[in-house]
Amino acid sequence: MIYFNEDAEDLYQNAPFGYLTICSNGTIINANKTLLSWLKMKREELVEEKTFMDLLSIGDKIFYETHVVPMLQMQWEISEINLTIIGPHFSFPALINGKKVPTDKQTDAYYRFSLLNISQRKQFEIELIQARKNADNAFLKLQEVNQKLEQFAYLASHDLQAPLNTIIGMLSLLERKGHISKDTEETQYYSLIKNNISKMKLLISDLLEFSRIDSSNVQFTTVSLNIICKDAIQSLNNAIQECDAKIYVENMPDIIGERMLLTRLFQNLISNALKFRSKETPIIHIQYEQKENSITIKISDNGIGIDPKHSKEIFGFMKRLHSYDSIPGTGIGLAACKNIVEIHGGTINVESEKGKGSTFIFTLNSNIQK
Ligand code: ADP
Repeated sequence: MIYFNEDAEDLYQNAPFGYLTICSNGTIINANKTLLSWLKMKREELVEEKTFMDLLSIGDKIFYETHVVPMLQMQWEISEINLTIIGPHFSFPALINGKKVPTDKQTDAYYRFSLLNISQRKQFEIELIQARKNADNAFLKLQEVNQKLEQFAYLASHDLQAPLNTIIGMLSLLERKGHISKDTEETQYYSLIKNNISKMKLLISDLLEFSRIDSSNVQFTTVSLNIICKDAIQSLNNAIQECDAKIYVENMPDIIGERMLLTRLFQNLISNALKFRSKETPIIHIQYEQKENSITIKISDNGIGIDPKHSKEIFGFMKRLHSYDSIPGTGIGLAACKNIVEIHGGTINVESEKGKGSTFIFTLNSNIQK
């Protein structure tokens, strides 16, 4: 076996650490080559010429005097002290360990320090802080852009309503005055125009509703889920009567939330349960489960159901599984529900099978600050 016979002096001089020895008055009495090369100094410029304090900034000098020296004297050692070593030609941040070296009583004690050059680590830290700052700025910009987009969606959909209403008015006038003759090509064109207009009207009103869900303006108060459910069901009275739906609502508690948004959430989910009904009479159950910090609400129906492979994507903006002509809609309702639930610190998902009804399950955080 070949042993590597390492020379102790070489190990001291060329170690990956800077080594420094000072006597009790602070004068540097020894330094290794690594430290001299980091400082870009000659031995005779440093050893017996400078004190350790000469290599420190004013702030570090104070810290050294008030913390490092007392600790060395009392505990005989210091570890991982972060100081910047300042030479005449070059400086570097260092992590310093130190030890008091016991001597016989006639000679004063002296102190040995090892210095780990952490320039690279500091550089990474600076880069990390910069990267965090950039990410924060990008996030703020994104928020700003989002807010502008929301404003744009609101204005665009709001301003589009007026000309659309004029077109609808003019068309009805044409029909009433007998300008649309029956069973001709015009009748087809007319019903096509009417169909597209109602599609556009629905899209505009859904967009308008969606853009009104603005998390920055939400005022949370104590709200009764019973009243919210009642309001939502009442607003859907016509659709409920039309299909003779049965809705069973469990007696529910009060929670902290935003009344208008929660009403819209229940409205959207109940109206979907009515809209996507099967051939059977719609039966809808609304139940809840209270946990320590949240409430879980389930709205289940006996409708057409959803293939589980679509259970995530249906919450996407304008995502639909049916054509407008088979079942009218815009695909905005569930995206709005997701936004509302998230504003209330919760999540929403669906459990369903095609042809076997659906259960929409959402949680609302009950710890939301008023
Ligand atoms: P819209 O109702 O306007 O189509 P939504 O965003 O409310 O848009 O719903 C997205 C899609 O999710 C619907 O097109 C439908 O395919 C499916 N869906 C939503 N609710 C139900 C439900 N209760 N039963 C079956 N499918 C549903």
